[in-house]
Amino acid sequence: MAGYLLARAGVEVAVLEKHADFNRDFRGDTIHPSTLQLMYELGLLDEFLKLPHQELRELRAVVNGQVVPVADFTKLPTRCKFIAFMPQWDFLNFLSGHATRFPAFQLHMETEVIDLLMEGSRVVGVRAKTFRGELEVWSDLVIGADGRHSIVHTRAGLKLHEFGVPIDVLWMRMSKKQGDPKQTFGFFQQGKLVVLLDRDDYWQCGFVIPKGGFDEIKTRGLPQFQKDILSFAEFLRDRVAEMDDWSKIKLLTVQINRLREWYRDGLLCIGDSAHAMSPAGGVGINLAIQDAVATANLLADKLRNGPVSVEDLQKVQARREWPTRLIQGMQVFIHRRVVTGKTSDRKESLPFVVRLLKWFPALRQIPARFIGIGPRPEHSFNRGP
Ligand SMILES: Cc1cc2nc3c(=O)[nH]c(=O)nc-3n(C[C@H](O)[C@H](O)[C@H](O)COP(=O)(O)OP(=O)(O)OC[C@H]3O[C@@H](n4cnc5c(N)ncnc54)[C@H](O)[C@@H]3O)c2cc1C
Repeated sequence: MAGYLLARAGVEVAVLEKHADFNRDFRGDTIHPSTLQLMYELGLLDEFLKLPHQELRELRAVVNGQVVPVADFTKLPTRCKFIAFMPQWDFLNFLSGHATRFPAFQLHMETEVIDLLMEGSRVVGVRAKTFRGELEVWSDLVIGADGRHSIVHTRAGLKLHEFGVPIDVLWMRMSKKQGDPKQTFGFFQQGKLVVLLDRDDYWQCGFVIPKGGFDEIKTRGLPQFQKDILSFAEFLRDRVAEMDDWSKIKLLTVQINRLREWYRDGLLCIGDSAHAMSPAGGVGINLAIQDAVATANLLADKLRNGPVSVEDLQKVQARREWPTRLIQGMQVFIHRRVVTGKTSDRKESLPFVVRLLKWFPALRQIPARFIGIGPRPEHSFNRGP
């Protein structure tokens, strides 16, 4: 998104992506109402919505066996009053396809950044590995948007504050059948959680486990693991046997962290590279996109004419840091109280906050705003020279 917006504003951009395609399934599938608003502002919305997707106007969760409404998006002050569920690779293919129409945009796939190029203490580019050998890319600004295992922030020596996360996620696919329930927020059971993402012909299943608990789950064996899945989602009974080999179950380590400084001379980190997000609440994509919009809004005019100063980079962090703090604070809370917290021993009982959401429909607009728009939504206004 940062590459798209900067190229649109007339800044020469090269996006380096280490994989050959965007087809990896470790990310979420949520395109939030604020991102859809941005697509509208960019004149891309109508075409974008022609891609296969699902529109979720109300988010429900299954808590201790009871279906409860969590968020109502229908009253949001946005053009699209829904979350679009779409595999992220479709979104990225769409965006990069449109970006390549700008003469200033280049996309280099299978180009893995392995180091930074320095001139004194200033970052002046990156060294990358390609199938043709190594490549040096010199630039006025390096934007590290390389996710939660960012090589860019590591090589830059930027200090990271880690917030302990008590969970990991087991990630697996299960087939989908006619008559299956619709997409929900998740299946919560006595402080435990399973998430099922509807990917059209299969369910992407996220099974939340205590951090470091995978070995114990393996020791208990696959039949017990299958039973655990069924205790959340009984409708999977006729296909849970698909989980017949541990190689089908991927461990995703969950992190929440934040750089103290998101920049140094010649370098800016955004998205998970600056602040790794947990899947809790499904908001990390939105936050990363809004970082990209703020970056383009604050820096595009200056970048058209050359390097930007450290003070310019500071402004991006200053603008995006408090929304990030707020959302990460909420994620830490969700981990402690909702995902791993102690709930009532009674299997059928609902936590108090969930009961409030059930009783008072108006309250569902609060999570809708938090998830669907987030604090300080960003808008695109830089249309170029
Ligand atoms: C299991 C799980 C589920 C999640 N579910 C959701 C959800 O439903 N909704 C939501 O909003 N958020 C979700 N999140 C959080 C979300 O995935 C992240 O916050 C979001 O993807 C961050 O976007 P990003 O562009 O900063 O980083 P990423 O999406 O991680 O993208 C980084 C990109 O950089 C590339 N890259 C990495 N290293 C290099 C390198 N050295 N050289 C070149 N390219 C490189 C990667 O291949 C990748 O394409 C989830 C997170 C996890 C762990």
